[in-house]
Amino acid sequence: MKRILSGIQPTGNLHLGNYLGALKRFVQLQHEADCYFCVVDLHALTVPHDPAELREKTMEVATLYLAAGLDPDKMTMFIQSHVRAHPEASWLLECVARVGELDRMIQFKEKSKGSDSVSVGLYTYPVLMAADILLYQADAVPVGEDQKQHLELCRDLAERFNRQYGDVLTVPEPLIGEVGARIMGLDNPRKKMSKSAGSPANFIALLDDPDTIVKKIKRAVTDSENVIRYDPDEKPGISNLLVIYSLLSGESIPSLEQKYQGVGYGQFKRDLAEVVVEHLTPIQERYRELRKSGEVERVLAAGAEQASRVADETLNKMKESIGLLPRL
Ligand code: ATP
Ligand code: MG
Repeated sequence: MKRILSGIQPTGNLHLGNYLGALKRFVQLQHEADCYFCVVDLHALTVPHDPAELREKTMEVATLYLAAGLDPDKMTMFIQSHVRAHPEASWLLECVARVGELDRMIQFKEKSKGSDSVSVGLYTYPVLMAADILLYQADAVPVGEDQKQHLELCRDLAERFNRQYGDVLTVPEPLIGEVGARIMGLDNPRKKMSKSAGSPANFIALLDDPDTIVKKIKRAVTDSENVIRYDPDEKPGISNLLVIYSLLSGESIPSLEQKYQGVGYGQFKRDLAEVVVEHLTPIQERYRELRKSGEVERVLAAGAEQASRVADETLNKMKESIGLLPRL
């Protein structure tokens, strides 16, 4: 059975991009593979944060994992910082990674732009991400398109490690969906939807209430043509809304184009808002129940134990092969 690992940062509000590019796919994959899903809280430390809010967001993301349909009997889920092997393996991989390759990382360039207090962690972030993946000997990693470059680095590091120190690490494949891998911002459909976007008008959060969802979709940037047609270059706003509509309703994009021939943007947006609210309402209800139940805490405790077992085994192999003296 294939092993799969992926994670989401507790850096802000989980949004439709995270859902369609990652979480919704995790839920499908848990039936097909041996899955490990984590909340990568150590990655959230790479940007300025408030400690109490980080704790709250970490619980929120973990709860949303379950509320969206991840089943503790079918997969392992855990908090990254509960498994001590991650930062340790990251150090070993930092000594395999090259400054030149980290200098090429687009996410670092984008996230550090305009800031005069960029953390070292933001720079080494992709190495920690490689450690997250390689510790579980993952065969595949479901992510959105924005993570493709980090995954290529992860593969390069695994291959270099294996070449220098023996065949220790599985080289993982990226699993990037054909549609939904890059949901765009509602306020700027030429940039991806992001938790750290700054303006809440950029995203629909999974926990947004129906009124907010309706308002955000109504205000989503489109064009003045008033024709509903999929054309990401010329009509990025409408195309993005069509992708969201299609993925949440199961109706294909051509069939939606057909259905909305001669219909204006106002009606299209009202219908889409309804589809989004209908899809998110049961997730939000389950979220509220789970937050009260204590179940998430239990799932996370068991998950940390199972994940640590797997991660420690790989870490010990890495340490031994790289030349560290085993502790007796
Ligand atoms: P941040 O702005 O803090 O980096 P983010 O929105 O990029 O937040 P991450 O936690 O970095 O979210 O990513 C979690 C997962 O969601 C990753 O697999 C990532 O590829 C995916 N993802 C993020 N944004 C999008 C998007 N707009 N469309 C599709 N997938 C996305
Ligand atoms: Mg991101």
